[in-house]
Amino acid sequence: MQFINHGPGRTWVKTVVKLFWPLIIAGKRYSNVPLLKWLIYPFFMRPLNEVSSIPINIEVKAPDSVVLPRRVVHRLLTAVDEKFIFGECICRRNNNVDSPPQNIGCMALGSAIRRIHPSHGKMVTTAEAIRHVDRAAEAGLIANVAHVWIDPASFGTSFRKLMFICFCDDHNCLYRTYMKSRGPSLEGAYQRLPGMSVSVDKDKCKGCGECLEQCFLANISLVDKKANIGRSCAGCGRCVDRCPNKAVILAIESEEALYFDLVQWIKGVSELPIKSS
Ligand code: SF4
Ligand code: SF4
Ligand code: SF4
Repeated sequence: MQFINHGPGRTWVKTVVKLFWPLIIAGKRYSNVPLLKWLIYPFFMRPLNEVSSIPINIEVKAPDSVVLPRRVVHRLLTAVDEKFIFGECICRRNNNVDSPPQNIGCMALGSAIRRIHPSHGKMVTTAEAIRHVDRAAEAGLIANVAHVWIDPASFGTSFRKLMFICFCDDHNCLYRTYMKSRGPSLEGAYQRLPGMSVSVDKDKCKGCGECLEQCFLANISLVDKKANIGRSCAGCGRCVDRCPNKAVILAIESEEALYFDLVQWIKGVSELPIKSS
């Protein structure tokens, strides 16, 4: 029988997250302060922090088809052998909220998952992983594809052979919240996949400002009473959902192109083996 030296269990990680939570929030808030910002910067930037978003709960009209970003995540899961689902969302549990459900946790991919302590969740089949993504989409969560130092540090795994797909909401996620108050040194902490673009149809925009409030990166401003998307967009799709006038357009050329971009992005940040399909 092969002996596996697992990383820390659930109780330990839970305690560490509680302790570090205020520190991470403070890091985002004070990322503007001279001197401090140089200490904080590496923890939120490449190569220790690489995050991209996939809007799994919306569909996108492409020139000759309808793109379902969720299907692209399904396809990735069929191309990766080792998958682990966490039994709970650590952020929602830490904040003690029940909606969205705590039991839609992150998913970890790659051989490094063998070291994750079984008290956190379980290894799953492709069908189970796909069902998990569908549940997350139905709960209105977005997918953050992440290669971030805090995950291997928390779970005692190797960094290069690990990717996370997190299913996050707007108010509890340690990654997403407090990004509005970030300093300029944290610009680029989120990277939009190259094949995605977000724009505003100025004729439809009524300047109501709802999308400004929605954007977790404070990346939208009003210019001449029309919404204007800035350069920091992560492509999360939240503003698309929020606009009452359907004025925000998320464009993706095709599912094939989105999948290609996603795979290239993952290969650029990690050593996750992805089978060609
Ligand atoms: S990163 Fe997202 S899915 Fe993961 S624990 Fe935090 S909110 Fe939950
Ligand atoms: S929510 Fe829509 S209508 Fe309102 S400002 Fe944003 S783009 Fe314009
Ligand atoms: S502009 Fe829209 S798609 Fe881009 S990060 Fe903000 S909410 Fe997400």
